[in-house]
Amino acid sequence: MVGLTPKDLKEAVIIKYNNIEAKFYAGGTDFMVRHDSCDKLIFLNQVKELKQVYKGDGYLHIGSGCTYVELLGDKRIPFILKEAIRGIAAPAIRNIGTIGGNICNASPAGDTLPVLYALEAEVVLISIAGERTMPIMEFITGIRKLALLNTELLKEIILPDREFDITYYKKVGARKSQALSKLSFAGFANKSGNRVTDLRIAFGSVGITAVRVKALETKYAGLSAEELKQRLEEILSDYSAYIKPIDDQRSTAAYRKKVCLNLLGDFIGNL
Ligand SMILES: Cc1cc2nc3c(=O)[nH]c(=O)nc-3n(C[C@H](O)[C@H](O)[C@H](O)COP(=O)(O)OP(=O)(O)OC[C@H]3O[C@@H](n4cnc5c(N)ncnc54)[C@H](O)[C@@H]3O)c2cc1C
Repeated sequence: MVGLTPKDLKEAVIIKYNNIEAKFYAGGTDFMVRHDSCDKLIFLNQVKELKQVYKGDGYLHIGSGCTYVELLGDKRIPFILKEAIRGIAAPAIRNIGTIGGNICNASPAGDTLPVLYALEAEVVLISIAGERTMPIMEFITGIRKLALLNTELLKEIILPDREFDITYYKKVGARKSQALSKLSFAGFANKSGNRVTDLRIAFGSVGITAVRVKALETKYAGLSAEELKQRLEEILSDYSAYIKPIDDQRSTAAYRKKVCLNLLGDFIGNL
């Protein structure tokens, strides 16, 4: 096993270009558990650019190598993302696990993903050829599948710098900590008077990726909170078609679907 340790981003992308078969290792909390066969590892934890958080151009930029503990201690990180982070694992894992690792692991149970989907996060990918940016919803294409070239790494996550009047996050697991999600739910809304002007709804662990259905958000945005409550049965029925969980060791498909729809109903009921 060869370990490669770039000191900055430029060195990291050159090393990757020259070692296409090498795998990235950030905190290693997913990587070590998976026992991926691999002869070369590129350790990212000394790449200082991946640790940066900054605001610019109307976006909050979050370096992919930021650990959960670092993000929890940063005032610029949205409260609702911190809510999701607080529910991840336990302090030991949160000390070394990174947000970039959670995204690149591309598990449907990745707890930051429903929040990042609803916040309209984009990912910045970098290689020796330069940078490109794409919505996270297009970057994660399936279970452990990414639209990532073999010369690229995830540099940062960018979030539109905006506030929401209503934020709602819930993770349901076997315990309060150290438990992967049976399911998770993120809902955000903005209101103008009683009218819901912006509606964002995302679910975790109920499909091959996190689930967010923009067409349904567009269908219901613009209605008043009362109108949404009156049309709750229709909303639940619409979303039911997109919530496609499986039975596994953590839960049953029927439980997951039922609780997702209950949480959606609770969110709408409290708008
Ligand atoms: C005991 C335990 C409990 C856990 N509980 C939870 C939980 O409750 N919720 C949850 O969501 N997760 C949980 N996890 C999973 C894990 O901790 C998180 O997904 C974490 O964020 C992974 O980050 P990492 O830095 O350790 O990633 P790594 O293991 O280093 O990497 C994960 C994957 O991403 C790739 N990668 C990493 N960084 C980059 C990059 N910059 N560019 C390209 N590819 C990259 C790696 O090659 C690898 O394929 C748990 C894990 C353990 C061991």
